[in-house]
Amino acid sequence: MARIVMKFGGTSVADTDRIRRVAGIVQRQQAAGHEVAVVVSAMAGETDRLVNFCREANPLYDPSEYDVVVSSGEQVTAGLLALTLHAMGCKARSWLGWQLPFRTDDAHSKARIDQIGTDAVLASMAAGEIAVIPGFQGISEENRVATLGRGGSDTSAVAVAAAVKADRCDIYTDVDGVYTTDPRIVSRARKLGRVTYEEMLELASVGSKVLQTRSVSLAMKEGVRVQVLSSFVDENSPSADDLPGTLIVSDAELGTGELQGSDMESQLITGIAADKNEAKITLTRLADKPGAVAAVFEPLAEANINVDMIIQNVAKDKGETDVTFTVPQSDLPRAIAMLEGKQEEIGFYRLISDDRVAKISVVGVGMRSHAGVAATMFSTLAERAINVLAISTSEIKVSVLINADETELAVRVLHTAYGLDGADQG
Ligand code: ADP
Ligand code: ASP
Ligand code: MG
Repeated sequence: MARIVMKFGGTSVADTDRIRRVAGIVQRQQAAGHEVAVVVSAMAGETDRLVNFCREANPLYDPSEYDVVVSSGEQVTAGLLALTLHAMGCKARSWLGWQLPFRTDDAHSKARIDQIGTDAVLASMAAGEIAVIPGFQGISEENRVATLGRGGSDTSAVAVAAAVKADRCDIYTDVDGVYTTDPRIVSRARKLGRVTYEEMLELASVGSKVLQTRSVSLAMKEGVRVQVLSSFVDENSPSADDLPGTLIVSDAELGTGELQGSDMESQLITGIAADKNEAKITLTRLADKPGAVAAVFEPLAEANINVDMIIQNVAKDKGETDVTFTVPQSDLPRAIAMLEGKQEEIGFYRLISDDRVAKISVVGVGMRSHAGVAATMFSTLAERAINVLAISTSEIKVSVLINADETELAVRVLHTAYGLDGADQG
């Protein structure tokens, strides 16, 4: 017997028919002898709809009331799943954020998890009841409903798995695992049997939205065994216990005999991700002297605007230089207003912005021991006349900024260049 936390995303619970299929998957895991807790998302599209209501009601909405509205989608699916399980003869009950309690801080709309009460839910699971928990929601220090940020149900599931010391956290979605790149963009993308926490963290943070970044860092910190797998399966497909999806593993586990020869080890690059949510800002003719760039980036940091890629051109005549950097697209208007407001103080000539850019990243632990990954990336893009606007790197990642129109082409040619292509699924 094992203790399993199962999480189902929006498309997996999109309507009552899909919820019935989910209930069938949950029932089978319990029938296999496991203690089961289930974390659910809102129905596909529901959170977007609720966010729009908030914007219509008041564009300058109060985040704590926004949380009251947007957390409701998960409450509906949790209740519906419990009802459906009852109809199938299973014992089940829902546990809302405030009932567990799922304690968070007061940062409404992007709350961080403090602690999860587990006594009641463990007792209920031990008594053979399926615990159904709405993802995304918790209760703040001031006892108000709080949400964890978009995509946050993945993080809820991992947090519950860590709190109840689950043997596994299965994240059910609409693809059957983590692929070398988004299989909806590249039909030759290959499913990975295993991927390390570190690589998954990089992939998620540079745009592979299959898992929320925070869920991966939490799983890594707490040592939660995570499997990504599909809920779009029939009764004859292999059990989740046979690990048919992608397992997120530690470096050490990747090196063990059981996993040797996995697709991960022989591969220099594990995956490629694209992110169209960044925007580029160039400030021209900035003074090339100590303190000039600090005058740009300090106020951005104070305004809580995350700067990602940065390039500073070689100084031209007159000791002046251009600086280019990227910020999240959603923060672009704020960043422009703030910088233009300080134009004289900072001392630049023009601000040029562009939100039609995309960041393409290649990720792989193999980069640590092999040279030439970046060179392959630049020459492959150059062969297709794709212009590189900015570059950034980490130990296991190289990212480039390109024109958004070239995203699909860039991902496809890089996928081929790094030898990642599998059989065409398209
Ligand atoms: P859920 O609603 O279940 O949380 P998401 O839409 O958040 O599902 O995440 C699943 C989607 O992630 C897939 O449909 C796929 O298009 C996308 N995706 C992006 N990159 C990858 C990748 N490397 N492997 C698998 N899926 C990916
Ligand atoms: N329903 C929330 C969202 O759409 C949380 C989630 O599904 O993970 O962002
Ligand atoms: Mg998701």
